[in-house]
Amino acid sequence: MPVLNRIAEFHADMTEWRHDLHAHPELALQEVRTSGVVQAKLREFGVDEIITGMARTGVVGVIHGRGPHSAPGGRAIGLRADMDALPIEEATGLPWASRTEGLMHACGHDGHTTMLLGAARYLAETRNFDGTVYVIFQPAEENLAGGEIMVKEGLFERCPMDKVFGMHNWPTVPAGTFVWREGPMMAAVANITITVTGKGAHGAHPDHGIDPVVVAAQIITALQTIVARTVDPTESGVVTIGHIAGGHTFNVIPESVLMRGTARWFRPEVGDLLEGGVRRLATGIAESFGARAEVVFERAYPPTVNDPEATQLAVRAARAVAGEARVQPMRNPTMGGEDFSFMLNAKQGNYLMLGGGRGGEDFLVHHPRYDFNDEILPVGASYWATLAEQLLPREG
Ligand SMILES: [Zn+2]
Ligand SMILES: [Zn+2]
Repeated sequence: MPVLNRIAEFHADMTEWRHDLHAHPELALQEVRTSGVVQAKLREFGVDEIITGMARTGVVGVIHGRGPHSAPGGRAIGLRADMDALPIEEATGLPWASRTEGLMHACGHDGHTTMLLGAARYLAETRNFDGTVYVIFQPAEENLAGGEIMVKEGLFERCPMDKVFGMHNWPTVPAGTFVWREGPMMAAVANITITVTGKGAHGAHPDHGIDPVVVAAQIITALQTIVARTVDPTESGVVTIGHIAGGHTFNVIPESVLMRGTARWFRPEVGDLLEGGVRRLATGIAESFGARAEVVFERAYPPTVNDPEATQLAVRAARAVAGEARVQPMRNPTMGGEDFSFMLNAKQGNYLMLGGGRGGEDFLVHHPRYDFNDEILPVGASYWATLAEQLLPREG
């Protein structure tokens, strides 16, 4: 793959960093060791400044280039990686598998952190750009919106930049192929919690109670009509109940049932329809059975929307690294969510995917047998470095 030669030279180093991060996964907002490793590496690379403390474990490395635009107040871009792992028991059996029970880097954020570290090393060493590059290592991409916290804690005020860029590995796309999209790329996300409260009774005497299990069953089925019957068929929306808990044994009707799920959409009107539908059906159905439903519809992440101009700049950099044929438009957006959306809402920018597929049995992210493909480390790092050099060119 036509990556930057200097970056290819330290591919083995990057692989080692990635395996170390992989072996020591940390949950959202608890990335203390990871944050420490990132800071130590940035210091070792000789970046000009290291900003810590944003969103608890967040780290921003500041790298000034050479030339008139490199002074404070000059032009600048941000490159962002995420650092958190997931509460999944790893089943890869690899030598660098997680050493922490129940935690795993199953989304490849170990690889994302490593690729950005690789770019930081290269950029600090070569300084072949005129402007300032902020390398942003954010915590808590999964569920806890570390990106939003950094924005709220003044990321773009403390680090004034013209544009911000993000990247995610994708195991079903061939290794080294970039996939891009203008406009909406990933969906808005809401977390749904429904508690149905009835009246407990002996399982043999249902007439003495109000069975919340039966009510929950009706609600789950009815929720599937929201997208099918109330959303414009040409629009996208999802309602999924992924968790149901109630009761303890064969012959007791429990007092309550808890359900949890997710809703996804792109257009705000669809989000309102989904929220309205979940609330109306859950409370209405429960009431019609003499039970009660409490609904929490918590909007977590907005949709990830790419700025067209920034996207074309990202595509140009990707093509320089991977070649024309390995940079492909994404046909449809995905219903996955991404908290880089908060940064894109605050700042013009782009988020793209870098394929990590090995062509055999590729496990999707969040699978216990998934592992980031080390082959693409220099590709991602070269993309970051090329983006910086192209967007902040030196004169003459
Ligand atoms: Zn993930
Ligand atoms: Zn991820």
